[in-house]
Parts: sequence; structure tokens; C-alpha cells
Amino acid sequence: MPLPRILLLSLGGTITMTRSAGGGIVPTLTAADLAASVPGLAAVAAIETLSPLRRPSAGLTLDDLIGVARTLNDRLADDLDGAVVIQGTDTIEETAFVLDTLVDGDKTVVVTGAMRGPESAGADGPGNLLAAAIVAGSPAARGLGVVAVLNDEIHAARLVQKAHTALPSAFRSPLAGPVGLVIEGDARIVLRSRRPPVLTGPLADEPVPVALLKMGIGDDGRLLAALPDLGFRGVVIEGMGAGHVPEALADTVSALVARIPVVLASRAETGPVFSRTYGYPGGEIDLLSRGALSAGLLSGLKARLLLQLLLRAGIDRAAYAPYFADP
Ligand code: ASP
Repeated sequence: MPLPRILLLSLGGTITMTRSAGGGIVPTLTAADLAASVPGLAAVAAIETLSPLRRPSAGLTLDDLIGVARTLNDRLADDLDGAVVIQGTDTIEETAFVLDTLVDGDKTVVVTGAMRGPESAGADGPGNLLAAAIVAGSPAARGLGVVAVLNDEIHAARLVQKAHTALPSAFRSPLAGPVGLVIEGDARIVLRSRRPPVLTGPLADEPVPVALLKMGIGDDGRLLAALPDLGFRGVVIEGMGAGHVPEALADTVSALVARIPVVLASRAETGPVFSRTYGYPGGEIDLLSRGALSAGLLSGLKARLLLQLLLRAGIDRAAYAPYFADP
């Protein structure tokens, strides 16, 4: 059987970083350099490489990711069987989510990276890259949407989070666990979820600023109230618990809803925003009745990206719900 054709597309990150004269590690390696360093890669896939960026992942922009999605949509519609996007782990959950929202079709896109640089003892990059290529080329992984593969675990883009600053086991999907594992060179899928609708239409070129605000005890709402005049076109509020803000902020939320879309997420690690439990002012029933939209199971980080994409797609606020719906 011919090997699957896989594109390795590198954006940078620790996996590409080597020691610099100025101290510390910086992105230097290309996708071709990485491919050449992985034992056994040529036996699992016919590899093509592309290295559009060499950046730490904190420096990626939504426009960069929209560009990656366009490349993947073009190339996957053509002769490729799958793709691996290589980047820094700091923002893998965001990239995976954006690509899951923008890349159409059932071919597998995997995002991977490394917690340790290639010059460290116990570098995890080569193993992650090999596992990622196995998943990208695996018929079993088709239709899963975009996944993140690290530490031999396969995580759904909607669920995955970076949960540690240092360990190679930094990635978790706290709601449901990984959707699969790479074992003995095979992708073993244990969970499948319905994919939310993919945004296939054109996106406005201009970036649309959307704020992400986490609530804390005693927040007086002044930042929230200032957002529209600061030029923000939407906001995601990471509320307390199941989606709550201090009572004094409930009217601020109403005033905001009249000007920009307000999405309610939770600052808790995982779990859905509630819809019908807490009846006090500032509780989720109150905020949703004031016109805030629920982020459902999405983290604040992912809800912010989704709102930016929906605004850039020119989709009417009344039609947002399916995009935030639980998988
Ligand atoms: N700071 C690095 C980055 O996100 C971390 C990593 O790649 O693991 O680019």
C-alpha cells in the first residue's frame, strides 16, 4: 500500500528552537530539518514540508492561522492525505481550535509541538512528530476534525488545554479525556464527537478586536464598560463558576449587549455554562436573559477566537448558537 502523503507545516515553537548566542533558545529549524531528525518518519508517510513562519507561538496572529487554514484547505482538496502543523505549545489549543473551525473535509489535521527543545536530553519533539504523522495518515482518525497530538495522546481541538508549563504531559482534555492514543505505531481512537459547523465563507481582511475578561471577587466592571469605546467589537466574559458575575455588573452587561456581542464562558477549568439554575442578579439565567450568549463548553480562549471569526464572517448574532453548541 502506498504511504499516506502528509504535509508538515512549521510555524516555529520550542520544537524548532536551538541555543542562541544571546542566551536562551530561539526558533531556527525548518520543517525539513525536523523531518530529517525523526527516526522512522519516512516509513510511515511520504512527507512534504513547508515552513511559512519561525516564531514563538505567543507571536502568532489570527491572520497567520487564517492563512494556514487556507493553505490546508487548498492542499487537502488536492493530493494530500493529511497534514501536521508544528508550532509552540503555548498556543496549540488556540491554533487547533481555529483550524477546526476553518478547515473543511474529513482529512486529518494534527497540531503538535514539544515541551523540550531539540538539544535537550529527553527531547519530546521527534516522538511527537512521529506520532502526529501516524495520526494524520491514519484512516481511523478521519472525520475527527483537527486534533492535537503530544505525548502519544490524541486530543480534540475543542477540548484540549495546556495544563502545565513544563512537563511533556502538559496537555489535557479535562472534560472527557483524550479521544485516542498512539500505540505500537497505530492511532487507536476511543471517542468520537460530532463536528460543529465549519466556517467556509469569506472572512473580512480587517482584524476584529474581541476582549477576554476574567471575573474576580469585587470586579467593579470599569474595564468591561470601557470596551466598546476602546474599539472592541465583542467580549467574552470568563464568569465565576457556571457563568456568573458580581450583581453590581449585571446592568453593565445589559449596556454592553446593546452595543457589542457578549459571550459568557466560565473561569472554571472545565464544564458548561449553565442556563437554568441560578436565579439571582448576575447569575446565568439573568445574564442570558439580558442577551449574553453562552459559550457552552468552550473555554474563554476558544470562545474569543470563535467570536472573532464569526464577526469576520459577517454572520448575524442570531445565528451564532450552533457554532457554540456542545459537540
Ligand atoms: N514558548 C514556546 C512557544 O510556544 C513554548 C513551546 O513551544 O513549548 O513557542
